[in-house]
Amino acid sequence: MENAGGNAYGKATRLYTKHCKYSEQWNPWHPFRSALDIQLAQLFSQQTITWIDQHLSRGLDNFTIQSLQLADDLRNILSELDFGLSDDSWIVDASHIFGTLYYRDIFKHIQFLLAHLSFEAHLKFEPVHLANSEGHRIYSEMIMGDWWWNIEDQFPAGATIVTVMCASDKTHLTNFSDDQHAWLLHLTIGNNRKDICQIPKRCTWIFVRLIPCPTNGAKNIDEAWHSTLGTALSHLRHLVITGPGLNWDCPGGFQRQCYAHLAAWSGYYPYQVMVAQVSYGSCPMCESPKCAPMGHSTF
Ligand SMILES: [Zn+2]
Repeated sequence: MENAGGNAYGKATRLYTKHCKYSEQWNPWHPFRSALDIQLAQLFSQQTITWIDQHLSRGLDNFTIQSLQLADDLRNILSELDFGLSDDSWIVDASHIFGTLYYRDIFKHIQFLLAHLSFEAHLKFEPVHLANSEGHRIYSEMIMGDWWWNIEDQFPAGATIVTVMCASDKTHLTNFSDDQHAWLLHLTIGNNRKDICQIPKRCTWIFVRLIPCPTNGAKNIDEAWHSTLGTALSHLRHLVITGPGLNWDCPGGFQRQCYAHLAAWSGYYPYQVMVAQVSYGSCPMCESPKCAPMGHSTF
C-alpha cells in the first residue's frame, strides 16, 4: 500500500510538554494542579487580593491548595490559561494603508490546535479510504476525500498535512459613528473531526484577523481584503512544501513533520466571489456560464 503520510518522529518537546508540567501524565487541570485547586481558585476570584493572601497564609484552606501560595500566583496561573492565546498574542499593524490591521501568528495557533491534548482522540494525520458493506466510498470527514490523497504526492514521504480551513465574514461594530464594520477571519484545521469543530465551547475556530472595512462604495474593497489577508496568512503563503516542514507536536506525545496547507474557505457567496476574484454571479469554482443551473461544470 502506498505511504499515506502522517508519520511520527520522536518525542514531543514543545507545546505538548506544557500540559505535563507537574507529572509525566497529561494534567487535564492545567495550569492548575488538581480539580480542588480549580474549585478554590473559582472561590478566590470573588475576593480581594488581601483576602486571598490572608486566607492562604493562615491556612484556612487547611493547606490543601498546591497551585498557589499568594494572590499574585493566581494571576500568573490565569495568564497561562489561554495556552498562548492571550490578548497579547495580537499583532497590531497601524501602518497598513487600509486601516489598522489586527492579526495573530497563525502558525502558533495551528500548533495549539494540533497539540491540544483534549483533541487527541479526534485528530487524524493521514487520509483514509472508507467504504460501506456494498463497497461504496463513504465521505464524511475531510480525511476521506480524494483531495487529501491527491495532494499527499506533492509533499515529502511521511509528511503530515495540516489542512487549514478559513472562514471569513463581516461584522457590525457601531451604529452611531458611521456604521462601522470589520472583516473577521477565523481558522481551524481539517485534521480535527468535523463534529468537534462544530461545538462552540471546544473553541476549535480561532479568531486570527480583524480590520475595519472600507466605507461603502470604495473602489479598493477587494484590494484591501486581499492585501490584509496576505499579511495575516503570510506564513502559510511562504511555507515551502518541498522543504523540511515544521516539527510540531501532536497530542499523542510525538513530533511530526508538518506542512500547513490551505484546504477550504467557508463564507457566504459574496466572500467566495471576493476570495476567488470572479465577477458577481459567476461560480467561484468552475467556468459555468453566469446564471447556469446549479452544479459545477466538469471542464
Ligand atoms: Zn461551479
